Amino acid sequence: MHTSNSSPTVPPVKEPAAWTCRRSARYFHAMPHPKFPNLTVLDHPLIQHKLSILRDKNTTTKDFKQLVNEIAMLMAYEVTKDLPLETADVDTPLERMRGVRVAGKKLALVPILRAGLGMVEGIAQLIPSARVGHIGIYREHDTLEPVDYYFKIPSGEDARDFFVLDPMLATGGSAVDAVSALKHAGAQRIRFLCLVAAPEGVRRMLETHPDVPVFAAALDRELNDHGYILPGLGDAGDRLFGTR
Ligand code: URA
Repeated sequence: MHTSNSSPTVPPVKEPAAWTCRRSARYFHAMPHPKFPNLTVLDHPLIQHKLSILRDKNTTTKDFKQLVNEIAMLMAYEVTKDLPLETADVDTPLERMRGVRVAGKKLALVPILRAGLGMVEGIAQLIPSARVGHIGIYREHDTLEPVDYYFKIPSGEDARDFFVLDPMLATGGSAVDAVSALKHAGAQRIRFLCLVAAPEGVRRMLETHPDVPVFAAALDRELNDHGYILPGLGDAGDRLFGTR
């Protein structure tokens, strides 16, 4: 018997083995693309519906921004399917029960500047605890060496899951460089999320970073001579920020 002021004594609950905190799967188990083992195309009907509106040249900047966020959120929902859980007791208004919560360190979202910024808000709405880093990268004209003009990521690199964000995986140059910079800083578990991928970029990621899964809403046909994805959606940064 206990008084109304004392907490009820809760016997320790033994958890079923399958619920103990474990990283049962390091990476996503969805079907990889038949041509690219590193690529998963997320073909959820809502993602595909919104992507087609995004591609339309008549879609306004305001709608474009909104759609990029919505697609990014839906993609994050799919990509986080394998996050490990741990048990956590919770007091409902009626009794104590055994609940769960996502285990481990907080996720880190790392947009590649500038178009990657457009994907942050949608994912952060779904995962408000996510930390946000930023990578700005360009290629030196003469040497073609990658230069990070901005690089700031959350600490604890070794134990975090990093989601690198860029709407377009075109030649793969900045994706490869951004992932290399993250690895150099100690990151070990990295996933790359883009809206539209070109075969050239996916292949380059596979060759350089075969351990980094790439998630895309679409794998398009090819790059044109100017490095734009066909059919693509044009310049994602310009369409997001209304520049041109
Ligand atoms: N970057 C873009 O914004 N669009 C492309 O098609 C390729 C790279």
